[in-house]
Amino acid sequence: MSLPLGAYQALEDALGPKNVCDDPAVTTAYSYMWLLYSTHVQSGRYRPAAVALPSSTEEIQAIIQLANRYGFNYIPVGTNLLPPTIPVRPDTVIIDPKRMNRILKLDEKNMYAVVEPYVTYAQLQAEAHKVGLSITTPEAGSQVSVMANNLFQGMGGMGHKYGFNRGILACDWVLPNGDLLKLGSRGNNAAGWFWGDCAGVNLKGLVRADTGHCGGLGMVTTMSVKLFPYPGPRIYPVKGANPDFHMDLPKDRFCLKLIQFKSKHQLGDAMYDIGHSEIAGAVHEEGANWILADNCLSVEEFWERWPKFQHQWKNIMAVSLMGFSSPRQLEYEKKVLDDIVNDHEGTYLDENSDLYKTGSHAIGEALRCGMSNRLYRPAGDFFVLGGFGFDSIDHTIRTSEFMWPIIEDAYKKGHFVEDLSHSDWVNSYQMCHFSEVEPIIYFEHDIEAGATFINGYVGTIVEAVKRKMMPTWPLGPMTWITGPAMCNYHELVIGMKKLLDPRTTSNPGYPLPEVNPFPPPPAQ
Ligand SMILES: Cc1cc2nc3c(=O)[nH]c(=O)nc-3n(C[C@H](O)[C@H](O)[C@H](O)COP(=O)(O)OP(=O)(O)OC[C@H]3O[C@@H](n4cnc5c(N)ncnc54)[C@H](O)[C@@H]3O)c2cc1C
Repeated sequence: MSLPLGAYQALEDALGPKNVCDDPAVTTAYSYMWLLYSTHVQSGRYRPAAVALPSSTEEIQAIIQLANRYGFNYIPVGTNLLPPTIPVRPDTVIIDPKRMNRILKLDEKNMYAVVEPYVTYAQLQAEAHKVGLSITTPEAGSQVSVMANNLFQGMGGMGHKYGFNRGILACDWVLPNGDLLKLGSRGNNAAGWFWGDCAGVNLKGLVRADTGHCGGLGMVTTMSVKLFPYPGPRIYPVKGANPDFHMDLPKDRFCLKLIQFKSKHQLGDAMYDIGHSEIAGAVHEEGANWILADNCLSVEEFWERWPKFQHQWKNIMAVSLMGFSSPRQLEYEKKVLDDIVNDHEGTYLDENSDLYKTGSHAIGEALRCGMSNRLYRPAGDFFVLGGFGFDSIDHTIRTSEFMWPIIEDAYKKGHFVEDLSHSDWVNSYQMCHFSEVEPIIYFEHDIEAGATFINGYVGTIVEAVKRKMMPTWPLGPMTWITGPAMCNYHELVIGMKKLLDPRTTSNPGYPLPEVNPFPPPPAQ
């Protein structure tokens, strides 16, 4: 776990001795990941050689220049939720931007904010709400970094209305050679932060993608992000105390409808009509196990209720209606939804029923997510068995159909928690113009179950590719499975990595490893 001779001293000289640390008590904390399988097989094996805490773009440039001079690797991180933030080799420095946690600007009139890398959604939303604005927060939780999330997915609970990964405007980006590149309006002298595009070719696509580059192409140090209208109170109306809290949103502007359909296809058709009618702020099919986990005050309560609940919660869509412009908008949207529900033989859950009460957090979670923190509790590990596959709603439903046999197989082996509801988390983005599915699974916190998860996850990619469908997001090495099936885009990505990071110091292995890690397929 050591750096090349002189490198640690050089980092201390650049950042100040207090802002570099190689104490094992600290570095160990950066070597573990919630996903147990990756913890054992990949992370946990290597503590980072050091953790560096820069306070400015210039200091980040200094670290990256030193990495090139001394030949060590670095990983830029946000709040470290994602597996690619864990070192997979010994000579890695974590660039942790904890000291860069300021909202540099909140432009109410032009509806954008400029943030440093450690600004969280909770932090930004609290400020944005004060001026009647908001931002879509990911189900990863409002505790994650706004910037990291926009670089990786950027798909939030309000994606139906606010859009999918549409938030990035201008950026300052330190390239792997240490140069500072300014994107969007930042590229024009004194043009400021308001615009993400520019005259001519724009490189924004290199920092923004379904999965982004995962720190493999340097570090973005400042970003402006788009904000959206928000018709709610200036202070988010949370009532109660963790773990028993709920959102008390004004009823003349916000309304949650939970609708049960006879089949997933009818649910999908209703979703299309909601999109065509351009109503609602958030539209999701909600998974049974996470709705229950979110509602239970203890793990014991979850396990007491789950055997019955998994028979009750099936094909249920949560539609969060919001009167953005006025209470009349909300009344109008309710009427439109009534017709759609009627046309597709849906049934509203009675607002006094236990089932409705169990799912009633869905509207608050769409606006300001916190539930994923609870999802790890019932079984130890949780994730989605692949999914994503951004395309039409029909594509989403077909994807779900080939995923469930893989999941069933795993719970028959005793590795995943049984889920007879077969309910997915299905999201609408951009008024149902596209969508994705994430079947949520709970599994034991052990190596065998973890291996089944990883194999199942890769299995979903293989199945999608076989069917010429859009696969699950292929993180890192998995891009070697999807690339050949999709115009060999992986070769283009390797070319970019080589061009921008010729010394391979920026999170090596991302966006993808240069060499195919998978054995060649059998001859047939
Ligand atoms: C349970 C769970 C649920 C999730 N749900 C959603 C969801 O609904 N919607 C969604 O959009 N995402 C979701 N995600 C993914 C999540 O958005 C990302 O994990 C998010 O980026 C985490 O934020 P973070 O601050 O922890 O980033 P980190 O995990 O610290 O970083 C994420 C990646 O970006 C790189 N990175 C971070 N900062 C920078 C930077 N400044 N410059 C260059 N590279 C950088 C890191 O190297 C890493 O590879 C989910 C993840 C989990 C684990």
